[in-house]
Amino acid sequence: MGKQLKKKYVYVFGGGKADGNESMKNLLGGKGANLAEMAGHPDLQLPVPPGFTVTTEVCTYYYGHDKSYPEQLTPQVDNALAQMEKGTKKKFGDPDNPLLLSIRSGSRRSMPGMMDTILNVGLNDTTIKGLIAQSGDERFAYDAYRRLVMMYADVVMEKAAGLEPKGGKGIRKVLDGQLEALKKSRGYELDTELTATELKNLVKEFKISVKNILGVAFPNDPYKQLWGGIGAVFASWNGKRAKEYRNIEKIPDDWGTAVNVQAMVFGNMGEESCTGVAFTRNPGNGERHFYGEYLVNAQGEDVVAGTRTPAPINAYSANAQSMNLESLEQRMPVQYKELFNFQRRLEKHYKDMQDIEFTVEKGTLYMLQCRVGKRNGVAAVRMATEMYREKLIDANTAVMRVGPNQLVELLLPMLDPQSELVQTVIAKGLPAGPGGARGRVVFTPEDAVAWAANGEQVILVREETSPEDVDGMHKADAILTTKGGMTSHAALVARGWGKCCIVGCNNIEINEKTRSFTAANGMVIKEGDWISLNGTKGLVYAGKMDLVDIDINKNQAYKDLMQLVDKKKQMGVRANAETPQDAKIAFQFGAEGIGLFRTEHMFYGEGSEAPLFQLRKMIMSKTEKERRAALNVLFKYVKKDVKNVLNLMDGHAVTIRLLDPPLHEFVPHDKEKLLELSKELGISTGILKRRVLALHENNPMLGHRGVRLGISYPEITEMQVRAILEAAAELTNSGKKVLPEIMVPVVCSPNELIHQRKIVDAVYVEVCEKYKVDSIPYLYGTMIEIPRAALKAARLAEYADFFSFGTNDLTQMSFGFSRDDIGGFLPVYLDQKILPDDPFQTIDFEGIGELIQFGTERGRKTKPGLKVGICGEHGGDPESVKFCHRVGMDYVSCSPFRVPIARLAAAQAAIETPRAKLKSKKI
Ligand code: PEP
Ligand code: MG
Repeated sequence: MGKQLKKKYVYVFGGGKADGNESMKNLLGGKGANLAEMAGHPDLQLPVPPGFTVTTEVCTYYYGHDKSYPEQLTPQVDNALAQMEKGTKKKFGDPDNPLLLSIRSGSRRSMPGMMDTILNVGLNDTTIKGLIAQSGDERFAYDAYRRLVMMYADVVMEKAAGLEPKGGKGIRKVLDGQLEALKKSRGYELDTELTATELKNLVKEFKISVKNILGVAFPNDPYKQLWGGIGAVFASWNGKRAKEYRNIEKIPDDWGTAVNVQAMVFGNMGEESCTGVAFTRNPGNGERHFYGEYLVNAQGEDVVAGTRTPAPINAYSANAQSMNLESLEQRMPVQYKELFNFQRRLEKHYKDMQDIEFTVEKGTLYMLQCRVGKRNGVAAVRMATEMYREKLIDANTAVMRVGPNQLVELLLPMLDPQSELVQTVIAKGLPAGPGGARGRVVFTPEDAVAWAANGEQVILVREETSPEDVDGMHKADAILTTKGGMTSHAALVARGWGKCCIVGCNNIEINEKTRSFTAANGMVIKEGDWISLNGTKGLVYAGKMDLVDIDINKNQAYKDLMQLVDKKKQMGVRANAETPQDAKIAFQFGAEGIGLFRTEHMFYGEGSEAPLFQLRKMIMSKTEKERRAALNVLFKYVKKDVKNVLNLMDGHAVTIRLLDPPLHEFVPHDKEKLLELSKELGISTGILKRRVLALHENNPMLGHRGVRLGISYPEITEMQVRAILEAAAELTNSGKKVLPEIMVPVVCSPNELIHQRKIVDAVYVEVCEKYKVDSIPYLYGTMIEIPRAALKAARLAEYADFFSFGTNDLTQMSFGFSRDDIGGFLPVYLDQKILPDDPFQTIDFEGIGELIQFGTERGRKTKPGLKVGICGEHGGDPESVKFCHRVGMDYVSCSPFRVPIARLAAAQAAIETPRAKLKSKKI
């Protein structure tokens, strides 16, 4: 008890002093800490209305002690109130000169609009007279009173008391209805037309309704109001909205909120009063201009309500709607100048863009809040590099200022954010391919191709996609699937192309017969109708929305940022690319090599007919002779493809993976194809069909694929290795630098590597002889994508020059979750917090992460110089990239469009945990 007596639960600020400061966010919440900083820091000492913060510890205590407070709280609050009274020369509850209070929440991280606020606390039938005297405006005073009764009844007496009826029919709605009815009966349009007497009567009527509906009278006692308000803020921490927001933002439930109690200042005390919001730089584009809006004779809630168009604070801030309105600079030049100086000081002090709330009460400027301002990706990059150039921040800070995923906004066209604000979302899925797109709906890849050929923009809507659909997928502007997860076929392919894509959108239902789909809200979208997708958020809209286009090479700020990034990062970033086009894009985005060249790509999409036919022939062959005949033809395609990419990458490493498709993906099913193939093989279609049937597997993903193919049919490996080494030899002979890395997929045993290595060694000798060269540069390595491979890493490293973690399959096989079928249960797992994240999107650090960590360690124990990388989709996920840095990987490899994101994440990881400090191996 003795110890508890000294515990400080209340922190006072105002009048150039403060108990707390900005570093105390955990205790005072973001708002409380910043109020203390603004009020008390010697460099600032800004005019903040005096007040106090009740700490987050009281919130924790409140929930831990049956919604009660620590004993010392009341005297500490009384003491703080006394200090406020001294500072404002007003008295709480005083009939002649009353002090009125605002009560607001404030957690460590801002939760905008999620918790409750009460204004004008302290008003009652006696103090109202004092407020009339102070303001000289009876109408204003009764307006403040009716606002208090409304807010208090809603927030404290109903919501916090747990009385809120369902369906939004609470007391607020009833009182709003009374207000509207009164306005209607008088023929008024605006609240401001109500007279003092009308408002006075309205307060009376409100109180009657409150008593009738809630069964309790509105409290006249100011102290009762104050404590009711404090309790309501704590209660709102566990309100429905706040809980849902915390779930989405991953804010821990036990952080609790602080409560900020502050002297009221009024922006609605007449024409010399106003209230506004401003930013020290433009949050929309990052320009270094003071930017904001304000409303004369208004309170903050009027700005939010949107019933009046706010005016610009200066000429720079004017937009199409507000350009004819008088700016703050014109209307109140003295206060504007003061505000302008304050914002400059705040930005210099915080060294970041600030979001500021201010109020002018009868000509006096007050600062109500400041916090680091939210900004979009374009603005973030510009601000970071400009602040660095201005020497406001150092290079490390500049690199840390931009969220890696924010870069997506700079790389891809996106839906116009303004139109998104006014459109309704008709369905929601997983954000597989970021950016925005709009197009007319088609339901088959064939239609996508045909419509696109006619110059139509189309969005391909499918239950799921398969390799046979790629042509249509490619021609479509975007892809929307109702099934599948973040590494489903559609997601993988779309991301590789930088195409907008939403998968697993299970709240729409496709009706193939009527060629339409029904959205969650019942809306029916027919073939040919326009829809728009926000692939960054997974949102589907009806109609054709505007797109905002972006050319990265014109963005100097981006180029400046990436220069800093490349100086900081310690890990290489490569791309997963299979075509020269992809390789070129990857190169432009700064890829330092290819980390995964999936050989089978040549069998999909445009121009794939001829090689696919040969592949099918090879698969359907019964004898080695038949197979070799097909392989001989395939050889030239593989060699040409590999040579193209090796040439393009100009000496950078290219990891070429040996064939890995589950065979069933390539088995022909339609009559025509079967007939053609049977002719080619000289067998009847009946025999061919039997061969097709024989290839059927119940679990193709765990079936005859990867290295297993190369072991059953060594000639397949032989053909590929020959193609790679010949391509490399020819390029070397023509004076080019090349570095192919031959990678064996789906390995689980060292014996598989030994087996394949023998083939490589034999072919190597033959190719060297053929080209009359002493050596051809290449590396031989393995994917680690089966849990057993991670376990056997020490042994595998004896036969491999490098490891590349295939985290798509490693996740699939370790969890036992099919990567194509997680759509069915993953949403429930995430909702119920059984898993923190989609493990196919962000590496599951606890489980898969451990496999990666000890796989790397064991491998390097055998071979200290072992090159280690990752080529699963996680290689483009910022959190996973940071993990790869901490594990000590040499590189990550990801889709071309994610290369800049991975580079930034790698640089941030190097700043957060420099490799030199990683000796402790605590990841
Ligand atoms: C993997 O499994 O992580 C991988 C890169 O291979 P794929 O996605 O082709 O199976
Ligand atoms: Mg794999």
